[in-house]
Amino acid sequence: MAEKKSKGQQRLGELAYEKKNYYETASEEEKKEIFSYAEGYKTFLDAGKTEREACAAAVALAKAKGFSEFHFGDPLCAGDKRYFINRGKSVVIFRVGTKDLEKDGMRLIAAHIDAPRIDIKQVPLYEEGGMCFLKTHYYGGIKKYQWTAIPLALHGVVVLKDGSKAEISVGEKADDPVFYINDLLPHLGAEQMAGKAGKIVEGEQLNVVVGGLPYPDEEVKEKLKLTVLDILNLKYGMKEEDFLSAELSAVPAFPARDVGFDRALIGAYGHDDRVCAYSALTAVLDGESEHTVLAMLVDKEEIGSEGVTGMQSKIYEDLMEEICAAAGASFRRVRFASKCLSSDVTAAFDPNFANVYERMNAAMLSCGTCMSKFTGARGKSGSNDANAEFVGEVRAMFDRAGVVWQTAELGKVDAGGGGTVAKFLANLNIDTVDLGVPVISMHSPWELISKADLYSNYKAFLAFIP
Ligand code: MN
Ligand code: MN
Repeated sequence: MAEKKSKGQQRLGELAYEKKNYYETASEEEKKEIFSYAEGYKTFLDAGKTEREACAAAVALAKAKGFSEFHFGDPLCAGDKRYFINRGKSVVIFRVGTKDLEKDGMRLIAAHIDAPRIDIKQVPLYEEGGMCFLKTHYYGGIKKYQWTAIPLALHGVVVLKDGSKAEISVGEKADDPVFYINDLLPHLGAEQMAGKAGKIVEGEQLNVVVGGLPYPDEEVKEKLKLTVLDILNLKYGMKEEDFLSAELSAVPAFPARDVGFDRALIGAYGHDDRVCAYSALTAVLDGESEHTVLAMLVDKEEIGSEGVTGMQSKIYEDLMEEICAAAGASFRRVRFASKCLSSDVTAAFDPNFANVYERMNAAMLSCGTCMSKFTGARGKSGSNDANAEFVGEVRAMFDRAGVVWQTAELGKVDAGGGGTVAKFLANLNIDTVDLGVPVISMHSPWELISKADLYSNYKAFLAFIP
């Protein structure tokens, strides 16, 4: 029997705000959904460890749901389910709705499918000390020391001299070899360990071990290098010069796994931001929307959203303009009426590093997807900072749909900060707010999220695209 509450307790219950743990409030039925949704996500993660692979994995899921490829100039009509591939590295999955575009606008969800990693240089191959290495230049903001002494897989493409393209993916299958970045043994690491963490492993030390077998010929000087070149030639038809036009990345070779006795969490490489990309994608694939809705899975967020495949590329505007033109609507009017969720991960409160968070405004694990009204650093600099009116509108959408969600800032004031693609969409005159899954150990080779937050993100997107 419930205890009778005092008047003050009752009043507090009516007036005070408190975050809720989604697992605690979910019904048994919903808990099952949370867990089964996570299975599809893990499969998506393992299939897409680079933006190219994530793009292909998204397209495969879209095709299976009856979506077909769109090219500029194609006619469009209400009910059309299409996807637009940008150079194989970003993809926009969209549904044309029945609502009036100029009056009701589009509903956009933008997430990124690139993730921090170790990119191979254009002239990378050398041998020294009985090992053959590839030289690298890391991609995105990493703690360099975290990428040593773990199994790495090599993914990417090589454009050969004749223009043909070889695809490489080694290190994911159970019987594949993997690759490796050396670290110093503690016995000789006294000087290293006394240094600043950002310097204990330097960029030019992130060389990837790719071989150690001498080519059986006394006349050859660089025998280890020749063995590797020989294998690459036989397997992919490439010569050393072909590295010049290659895009190869070393990524953690670990698959996504459940974490914890109770399997509440998922550990994986690249939750940032494939966790939001997958939820955005599946919401557009599964949702039944009267609005025209777009899931924009973009590249290059980790290095500033630059380039032809990053969010700042005109191609996304061009695509929206094409969709408007096909409906005879003015893009200028449509975008003014449009709304966007910029969906990227945020930092989950970590009790092991509590001093960089401000508890009241930190994202708590399993308390649902997290809205960030603003991001930025040092006085919100570089942030979109969404209008209260728009935040109120989105809040009402979530509450109506029973979404368990929270708000947060990334860390305490002046502890650091970060940015997202939100401002680029807002610059188009589209109301935009950040929403995404809280992550532990962000940008590490193996990040941690809660299955409850993943599912809450998906539910939030469904609520946003009615
Ligand atoms: Mn991100
Ligand atoms: Mn990131």
